[in-house]
Amino acid sequence: MNSTSPVKRCSGECGQYKPESEFYRRGGRLAHLLCSECKTCMVAKQAAWRRENAEHMRAYDRKRYPGRDRTAKNEALRALRATDEGRRRLLDQRLR
Ligand SMILES: [Zn+2]
Repeated sequence: MNSTSPVKRCSGECGQYKPESEFYRRGGRLAHLLCSECKTCMVAKQAAWRRENAEHMRAYDRKRYPGRDRTAKNEALRALRATDEGRRRLLDQRLR
């Protein structure tokens, strides 16, 4: 192992020692730091998270907005925009 490519232990699923190039950097002010999990583990975890959350969010949406209908809302908006009074109200909401 040469000293120009330091290795770091992944704290994720694989737990392997990998070169630092196999780890993502953190963002913003922490850009000098590496993530504690290797790219492979991060990607796997994010995919799983997205899967779980897509399910979770759908269930949440259903519970929170029962019978939510986008089309009906768009129709209502269009009807509102068709009148001067409606346009004023929409503008008011936006400014507030
Ligand atoms: Zn890993």
